[in-house]
Amino acid sequence: MRIVVASSEAVPFSKTGGLADVASALPKALSQVGHDVSIIVPHYPQVHAKHTDLPDIEDIGVSLRVPVGQKIVEARVLKSHLPGTKVTVYLIDQPGYFDRPGIYVENDQDYRDNCERFVFFSRSVIETIERLHLAPDIIHANDWQTGLIPALVSIEMRHIAGYEQQASVFTIHNMAFQGRFWHWDMNLTRLDWKYFNWQQMEFFGHLNLLKTGITFADMITTVSPTYAREIQTPEFSYGLHGSLFSRRSDIVGILNGVDTEIWNPATDPYLVKTYTADTVEAGKTACKAALQKRLGLPVRPDVPLFGGVSRMTGQKGFSLIGQCADVLMDLDVQLVFLGTGDPRYEALMSQLAADHPDKVSTTIGYSEELSHQIEAGCDVFLMPSEFEPCGLNQMYSLIYGTVPIVRAVGGLADSVIDASDANRANGTANGFSFNDFRSDALFWNICRARSLFHDKTAWRKIQRQGMQQDWSWTRSAGEYVRIYERAIARQHLESECAGDEK
Ligand code: ADP
Repeated sequence: MRIVVASSEAVPFSKTGGLADVASALPKALSQVGHDVSIIVPHYPQVHAKHTDLPDIEDIGVSLRVPVGQKIVEARVLKSHLPGTKVTVYLIDQPGYFDRPGIYVENDQDYRDNCERFVFFSRSVIETIERLHLAPDIIHANDWQTGLIPALVSIEMRHIAGYEQQASVFTIHNMAFQGRFWHWDMNLTRLDWKYFNWQQMEFFGHLNLLKTGITFADMITTVSPTYAREIQTPEFSYGLHGSLFSRRSDIVGILNGVDTEIWNPATDPYLVKTYTADTVEAGKTACKAALQKRLGLPVRPDVPLFGGVSRMTGQKGFSLIGQCADVLMDLDVQLVFLGTGDPRYEALMSQLAADHPDKVSTTIGYSEELSHQIEAGCDVFLMPSEFEPCGLNQMYSLIYGTVPIVRAVGGLADSVIDASDANRANGTANGFSFNDFRSDALFWNICRARSLFHDKTAWRKIQRQGMQQDWSWTRSAGEYVRIYERAIARQHLESECAGDEK
């Protein structure tokens, strides 16, 4: 199968969150089982400059003239590949839109022309496919930044000879980000205003690009089975449950996998000592001591070390940590956090570290190296999210023998099995999970983890369970292939029916 994946970010070229991991790990897994996969992403020179280990990017001498509103915007197509794979990466070079310090945001402010930038990008994906004769069986768009693509496929591309049966799949990584813009931005898309209605592209008077993707894609996926159910309810849909419910038979939740070449404690170059499920005790003891030393905490093997790596936002449950911080500090525990985001939560976590330097270390920033060391060195990983479409860190934690404490929502509910007596007895327990988004629920689970940590036999059993499960992309990639096949079959059927009607 020939597949083109369109994304606004992809590791190792650019990343603000889990989307970037998925946009490269899924193509890699699909290519490993014999599919022909290309990725199309924007070229962000200033963001790329921060990475030293990028593969070469070459100019292949292809220029595009992309219509955006009343303008024709010129761009070039650059070419690279995903390291260690056969996956080709095309980068759309348009310095006016993408040669900036940030990907979506600068100084905490969204770029004011984000709609124009990603309408341009969506159209340039279609132009690139046509110019390079990529002839994909599937165009796989992701999140609001490429939400226009399924509409362009459905409304325009299928009228072009050779693309009559073009199928599209749209993946929702996070309902909280919808790409809502004022109605006049509809002009940027160059689509007829008849599509600006409540059943297609309009949402309470605004253009909504996530809704556009949901409306026009042949199949819709989201990143965990639980989240697929949650987003059809008002609590998790940010207003789009109606659109999602009307397409409920076409929505499938597929849990993301983990790129086990990057996240593997047996080969991880960032660790002072690598380890497997059989050597987890010695490995983690060394990694924990190195982490405590690096972060200036007392080097103590006996104290349970809790960690967190994430965007510091309300979604990730920092308010709960703040609310139980006082009682938490009365316990003999250590906490380490790495993240950036909302200045409120950065200040909260920094203050906690300043007040309790022997117990808490907060690093404001982004560091691949430290994130790996936290995953390996901590005993427990905290993810008390308000909502979590899939979440990757709980799976990294399971692979690294770092027992996660999670709120049972979205992908967290699909990956973490609570250490209840019954689950421990039947051997399925791999972490701790709770339902209520409340600080006492989090605190109670921290206490549960802390007491079980001192029962070494019970702890090892929980660690081993997580480490021995299959969190790789191989499993998820197979499920995506089945969705692609459904989307293709639907298009074949629809175009045959359209042919019969003529
Ligand atoms: P989300 O996509 O909501 O941010 P995920 O858990 O799905 O959350 O993915 C987040 C990804 O970003 C993970 O790979 C995580 O390790 C990484 N990450 C987040 N913040 C940082 C940071 N400050 N430093 C290093 N990696 C980070």
